[in-house]
Amino acid sequence: MSVKLRPVMKFVRFAIGRKTRYGVLSGQTIQVIDGSPFRRFMPVDEYHKLSEVKLLAPCLPSKIVAIGLNYRKHAEESGMPIPDVPLIFLKPSTSVIGPEDNIIYPAMSSRVDYEGEFGVVIGKKARYVTPQEALDYVLGYTCLNDVSARDLQGLDGQWTRAKGFDTFAPFGPCIETELDPGNAPVETYLNGELKQQGNTNDLIHSVRDVISFASHVMTLLPGDVIATGTPSGVGPMSVGDTVEIRIEPIGTLRNYIVSPA
Ligand code: MG
Repeated sequence: MSVKLRPVMKFVRFAIGRKTRYGVLSGQTIQVIDGSPFRRFMPVDEYHKLSEVKLLAPCLPSKIVAIGLNYRKHAEESGMPIPDVPLIFLKPSTSVIGPEDNIIYPAMSSRVDYEGEFGVVIGKKARYVTPQEALDYVLGYTCLNDVSARDLQGLDGQWTRAKGFDTFAPFGPCIETELDPGNAPVETYLNGELKQQGNTNDLIHSVRDVISFASHVMTLLPGDVIATGTPSGVGPMSVGDTVEIRIEPIGTLRNYIVSPA
C-alpha cells in the first residue's frame, strides 16, 4: 500500500552507515520509508533509534526563498522601512546544513548573526498560486537559521554574499506536517540563553501570502524552502557558540559555530 501526500507526521532524512534514507520520526524511533515524502512512499519494516543515526537536513532544496523584514519589531531594530510587498532574496542550495552540523564563521566577516525563522517546505510544484490555495502546496514546516554576515550585508547593499556562505542555512530537525502556520512560536537560544521569541501570528506578510507572492515570481519546486523572516532580537554569534532554533512541535535545530580552520 502506498500513502499519498499530507499525512500527519514528522519526516526526517538521515544517514545510517553509508546509506541516506527518509523516515518518519515517532518519539525516539525512526521508521524507514521507501520512496520520498515528495512523491509516493511506503513505510517499511525497518526501524532505527534516533540516537543511532545522523540526522541530515530534512530535504535538499533547489533554492531557499527568504523573506526580509517580515516582523515589525525586527524592521524597526534594523532601521529599515517596513516593505509594502514581501522583500525576497535567495540563499543558495550550497548553504544548507543539517542539525548538529557546524556553521563556519567566514574569514571575510567580523559580524555573523543568528536569525531564527519558521521554514515552509514546498511539497509540490507551485506557480501562480493564490493565498487561499497556498497551503495545498506545502509538505510541512521546519526550523531554519538564516545565518547572516551583518557587516557584509551593510557593505554590499544587496544580500547575496551576506546570506549565501556555505553553512549559512541550517534547517531541520524534521518536516512537521501537523501545525498551524498562523500561530507558531519561534525561539532562538544562544548558549542556552533565550535571544529571540516571536510568533508567526506577528508576521507582516502571512505564510499563505509569502508562498503566493514567491510563486508569482518563480516556480517553487518540491523540497524548496521558504524562510519567513526573523523576529526581533537578532544578534552576533562567536566561534565556540551553540545556537538553537526551537519551534514546537517541530523540535530544536542545534548548530555550532566554528572557525574556518
Ligand atoms: Mg532572515
